[in-house]
Amino acid sequence: MMLSECSSINCAHAAEHISAVVKVVLFSYQLVAIQHSYIANGLEGTNGSLVVDLAKMKNISVEPVTFNAIVETGNRLGDIVLTLNDAGRRLPHGQSTYIGIGGHSGFDGFGYSSRMWGLTLDNVLSATVVLADGSIVTASEVEPRALLGSSASLGIAASIEFRTFAVPSEATAFEYGWDVDIATASNALKVFQTWALSGDVPAEFGGELFYVKGSDTDELNLLALGITTHVEVELYGGIGSSINKVSLDDTAFAHRNIALHFPALASSPYLRTPAIVSVFLMACYSL
Ligand SMILES: Cc1cc2nc3c(=O)[nH]c(=O)nc-3n(C[C@H](O)[C@H](O)[C@H](O)COP(=O)(O)OP(=O)(O)OC[C@H]3O[C@@H](n4cnc5c(N)ncnc54)[C@H](O)[C@@H]3O)c2cc1C
Repeated sequence: MMLSECSSINCAHAAEHISAVVKVVLFSYQLVAIQHSYIANGLEGTNGSLVVDLAKMKNISVEPVTFNAIVETGNRLGDIVLTLNDAGRRLPHGQSTYIGIGGHSGFDGFGYSSRMWGLTLDNVLSATVVLADGSIVTASEVEPRALLGSSASLGIAASIEFRTFAVPSEATAFEYGWDVDIATASNALKVFQTWALSGDVPAEFGGELFYVKGSDTDELNLLALGITTHVEVELYGGIGSSINKVSLDDTAFAHRNIALHFPALASSPYLRTPAIVSVFLMACYSL
């Protein structure tokens, strides 16, 4: 097989197919697993990279006795939510329906129900994984927990078994918006942080502060740089949060001891993300 550019193999229907591809390219190419994440991270490979597209691996089943869900990694969050909901079950997960379950359960998986049920990765019970030598193994809770939080470094997950939860009988969604000056907005953040650390926040409560451009025309308009951005302050941990309860040694995911999480998000109207968005986000992370 001759591949001079970053190429895509779109034939994986099962772990055995992934294994066959890995064995063929073992010594020649850098392998990147993707399944069409909608920000196309996995397509940013250099020449000599091979992308295994998992988009056709779409099975989802719910075990009738345990209610554990077996999810193939070509699924996105939207597919999973709808299928689990039909079975009266839920998973904790992030908010965008197009996020792929492969990366989401491999590194994080924070959403409004995470203080109650944990991250998506905290609910992985076992996974069928193709290792770098092409062998197919099943990793479970009693085997190396390193898979949880760094799965892409170890292999390609073909399917994942998740613990699921009964869909709550009711939920309350709410949103309040205020147009405030900078001092008030800053103080709101302090108050939010104090509350997050107080121990008074029930685990059932999921929420975030959303800072967007206000009506004051003196504010910096990042749109002028070709970037749209906002600041999210997610209520992540704090006393009683299931995320903080997991010991640091239990998984390879290291970010357990924070109360608030600030994801750096920016987008561009252009088809390809301009370099300035990457520079902007790297600057955010270095703050
Ligand atoms: C708009 C947007 C909103 C988001 N919202 C949230 C949120 O609310 N909460 C949250 O926690 N996160 C959120 N995220 C982050 C998201 O969970 C991560 O970017 C995640 O890694 C995406 O996974 P993917 O499979 O779609 O991406 P990909 O780019 O396909 O994969 C990401 C990484 O995982 C690897 N990978 C993918 N599939 C597999 C597999 N089967 N086996 C092994 N490795 C694999 C890839 O090689 C790559 O290294 C958001 C991201 C975006 C872009």
